[in-house]
Amino acid sequence: MRYRHSTFAQAASAPVGKATFRVPTRGGRPTLAAAIEPAFDTAVPPVFETAVEPALAAPVDRVPTASDGPVLAELQLDPELLTGPVEVTGITQVTHDVKTFELRAGWMPAVDFAPGQYVTMRITELGLERCYSISSAPFGTNIFTITVKRVPGGAVSTHLHDNVQVGDRLHVDGPYGLFSTSFHQAERHLFLSAGSGITPIMSMVRSLLARQGGLGTDIVFVHSASTPLDIIFRAELEQLAEVAGVSVTILCSRDSEVETWAGRRGRIDAATLAEVV
Ligand SMILES: Cc1cc2nc3c(=O)[nH]c(=O)nc-3n(C[C@H](O)[C@H](O)[C@H](O)COP(=O)(O)OP(=O)(O)OC[C@H]3O[C@@H](n4cnc5c(N)ncnc54)[C@H](O)[C@@H]3O)c2cc1C
Repeated sequence: MRYRHSTFAQAASAPVGKATFRVPTRGGRPTLAAAIEPAFDTAVPPVFETAVEPALAAPVDRVPTASDGPVLAELQLDPELLTGPVEVTGITQVTHDVKTFELRAGWMPAVDFAPGQYVTMRITELGLERCYSISSAPFGTNIFTITVKRVPGGAVSTHLHDNVQVGDRLHVDGPYGLFSTSFHQAERHLFLSAGSGITPIMSMVRSLLARQGGLGTDIVFVHSASTPLDIIFRAELEQLAEVAGVSVTILCSRDSEVETWAGRRGRIDAATLAEVV
């Protein structure tokens, strides 16, 4: 797994034709992201229209070669980088306003990322991109998940919730980020999250439990949600609370219309931490 700095913040000011802070790929050949990013901020990006759309429509279960023609040859998909068109293979309603999207990176034998990292999702028809943490753990397949909360009035989250269906193709670029247990190794872990901030934490917790096989686990996980209906991954959190070496505390700010919260109330504060850690 290669760590790359995100080009997102620098893209607007980057000189055309140059992708900033990107670690070169083997042999210096361009990645798909390097080819399209400089053009992404222009109103009618010619590279975007001519180069990206054919790549999205092309088969992706193998790495394109020169025999695929000039467009695909230029935009070779790197089997080690999570950058390219992914297929939506499953959609799960997690809470009333949160969905998990299962995505398949067909050009990779196994998706390579550190738990806690994120991808940048490009929605070509909107000309927008947003970051989403990978909520699954790296389990050696080419399928991974993102978990998206619908933001009222939000362009991309609303599009993902209302328009994206199984079988659709989306474009991701990544993985990015250093917020990962892989980069901050420890014997004991304290995870604090609120709302949709739980997504990278779940990736890390799932990964830690799988790798350690439950042996020597020392995890304290405190999560805060608005109401019981808003607890993302609630069933899994309740199961986690039963695992030896894992302590899970869920706080809700208020009751939902259908459930009075019997657990801790309020938001995560020093008093809560002093008690549960
Ligand atoms: C590293 C990282 C990881 C992330 N991981 C996740 C994740 O795992 N899950 C997740 O759900 N989210 C995640 N996010 C947040 C995600 O990237 C988006 O910000 C989120 O989905 C909202 O995007 P949107 O396009 O739907 O909303 P936007 O269109 O960006 O709008 C956001 C809000 O601003 C308001 N707004 C928009 N334009 C205007 C305007 N002109 N004037 C006033 N108000 C306006 C909208 O009504 C909305 O309420 C992550 C963000 C980062 C940076």
